[in-house]
Amino acid sequence: MANKVRVRFAPSPTGGLHLGGVRTVLFNYLFAKHHGGDFILRIEDTDQTRYVEGAEEYIVECLKWCGLNPDESPQVGGPFAPYRQSERKPIYRQYAEQLINAGFAYYAFDTTDELTAKRETIPNFQYGHEFRNQMRNSLSLSPSEVASLIEQGVPHVIRIKMPANETVTFNDMIRGEVSFDTNLVDDKVLLKADGMPTYHLAVVVDDYLMKISHAFRGEEWLPSAPVHILLWKYLGWESEMPLWAHLPLILKPDGNGKLSKRDGDRLGFPVYAMNWTDPKSGDLTKGFRELGFLPEAFINLLVMLGWNDGTDQELFSLNEMIEKFSIERVAKAGAKFDFEKAKWFNAEWIKKADTTELRPYFQQILNSNGVPVTNVDYLDKVTALVKDRCVLLPDFWQQASFFFRRPHTLELDGIKPKWTDEKTGFFNSLITVFAQAPSWNATDLENDFKALGTEKGLKIGEIMLPLRIMLVGGKFGPAVFDIAELIGKEETIERINLALAQINN
Ligand code: GLU
Repeated sequence: MANKVRVRFAPSPTGGLHLGGVRTVLFNYLFAKHHGGDFILRIEDTDQTRYVEGAEEYIVECLKWCGLNPDESPQVGGPFAPYRQSERKPIYRQYAEQLINAGFAYYAFDTTDELTAKRETIPNFQYGHEFRNQMRNSLSLSPSEVASLIEQGVPHVIRIKMPANETVTFNDMIRGEVSFDTNLVDDKVLLKADGMPTYHLAVVVDDYLMKISHAFRGEEWLPSAPVHILLWKYLGWESEMPLWAHLPLILKPDGNGKLSKRDGDRLGFPVYAMNWTDPKSGDLTKGFRELGFLPEAFINLLVMLGWNDGTDQELFSLNEMIEKFSIERVAKAGAKFDFEKAKWFNAEWIKKADTTELRPYFQQILNSNGVPVTNVDYLDKVTALVKDRCVLLPDFWQQASFFFRRPHTLELDGIKPKWTDEKTGFFNSLITVFAQAPSWNATDLENDFKALGTEKGLKIGEIMLPLRIMLVGGKFGPAVFDIAELIGKEETIERINLALAQINN
């Protein structure tokens, strides 16, 4: 690739970030980094009516959480600043006027009422080649009328003049050749009455000025592509137009249509990357991060929604993804979202993670359960024993709370009916053996336990489960002698004593 690869993620800050949006970020980022290029974050906030407070900060935080940090952005700056379109407002008008002078755009003075009246009288009204002459614009009015309206300061917009009966064709990196009939596209507004550009003008001008080489975006933007392609051509920049890639949709689990925020609510899984609270309604939409996903798992599950490396490999670190990513391997068809599979990725990444990496997460979980961590070595040992049992990070509490405090209740129902005096005798002797044990490690404890069991004529299976329930509270957890080793001699003996008292009362 001759020129430097420069890609952009260009969100409008209108709310939480859907996982499809994060996947767009990811594919942009992987492509850029694979080719040694730059990844740019540009905030497309020219539609002030849709602006939502906090949404930009949220997007920045999501990118940070995922480890997909931009090389240029409103926050880090860069050679093409500003990166927020609202701060670039003065740049755009000249290009809209250039288009008017070249005959590719025109002023339109129609009021909202006039437009509404037209829509009511003409079914499927489209402001375009068919009806634009019936409207009040610089194509239908005389030059002197136009000049006088502008002089009087009559509010007006600038619209693109979509050609009639043409086919606009381009080569999409994923979909191949794509064609559009210009008759089906209306004369989009390029510059609004308040002087702000619309998305269509701003996206083209900024992709040009910021020297974007490849533009990846969701498939939902495909219908806008003919407008953008014509603008590149009309502005005389065609030779510098980025290569386009419209990414396949992420579909509902049943494959029936695009996955929406509402599907998540309905089916009980998150669709947003992180928790999002709507500042107006106060409504909270849950996110993957807060549910207990590791960022490594989150980006891994996203990359597999529409891409694979041609083998059966499913687990990829970010560096591996960068190394292996290629746009040729992105599928055209939509990818079904499967929450069970998403959880599988998380479980695998928790298994793969170092205990030190998991430390901050588990410390926080313990803290929020009222168990402040004073000994991180101890926490790391517990983590090593239970991390393979966690699907979501908060599972750690369920799997490991008994290492940090005595179980509140003991599930004795399963052992009480089969309890015998011999078993009480065995556990009393075990307390003595344990109390006198010269060493305290899992192997020796297991040997002592088994030797005593044999001596007392008891089957190991009959006494092992009771010991587990005494120490853990239930029928779960890692190897029981590992647990005893970690909680220590005094605590093990104390728990056996307390359990015997409950069983025999
Ligand atoms: N501002 C658009 C969005 O909100 C950007 C689409 C594009 O990448 O061209 O997604």
